[in-house]
Amino acid sequence: MTSRTPIIAGNWKMNTRLADALTLASKVAGLPAHGVEVVVIPPAAYLPLVGRTISGSTVKLGAQNLHPATSGAFTGELAGSMLKDVGCHYVLCGHSERRQLFGETDATIGEKVASAHRAGLIPILCVGETLAEREAGEVASVLVRQLDAGLSGCSVHETRKTVIAYEPVWAIGTGKTATPEQAQEVHALLRAHLALQVGKTGAEQIRIQYGGSVKPQNAEALLTQLDIDGALVGGASLDAISFGAIIAAAN
Ligand code: PEP
Repeated sequence: MTSRTPIIAGNWKMNTRLADALTLASKVAGLPAHGVEVVVIPPAAYLPLVGRTISGSTVKLGAQNLHPATSGAFTGELAGSMLKDVGCHYVLCGHSERRQLFGETDATIGEKVASAHRAGLIPILCVGETLAEREAGEVASVLVRQLDAGLSGCSVHETRKTVIAYEPVWAIGTGKTATPEQAQEVHALLRAHLALQVGKTGAEQIRIQYGGSVKPQNAEALLTQLDIDGALVGGASLDAISFGAIIAAAN
């Protein structure tokens, strides 16, 4: 089996003020992270200064969103090239809050993922089912639909570079976590589906993060599952000690 470097990403969402963001970034930059890729994803306004704060460390910068176009009359939006200019390596695409609160469709998310690659960014494509979809037995069909649409504009090479984040919507910010077995089952399903697109070897290279109320207390049990290659962390990434404990669990 290919060995995949675990990736722990902290999505700060619309939290922190500038001073907090820089303090947090500087603490994260000082955390031991041997063998783990660490990413901070601050609010867009703070990207350049957080980028400067983590420079010289191995921590990478990510953005929470991008517009699929390369430029133009899209007031309030940011193109992938702009995110690249300020030092981003990663960009979230299709986070469930974007899908639910901002009406992002599978098609738009597919455009964003393709656009991110063209700009030289690595998209983190978020997929996940709602509780109603889980209870209706639709987990596999929903995730396969989101995955296929999200990757529809990618070449095989781009698909292999994309990071997938499985984030059951019912587990985000709720304190409810998928059990390690539930999460592993879904990750294995996603990898098997990816193999249809990029072959078994290609799918073995793709990193699939778990997200949804990951905390120091549950991180190790999740991160030791065979197909779980890291975590996308919301709430717990706002505290450097908790985030550091999750990074340590990935090691
Ligand atoms: C997220 O927003 O991607 C997330 C996983 O949040 P939390 O860890 O707070 O559930």
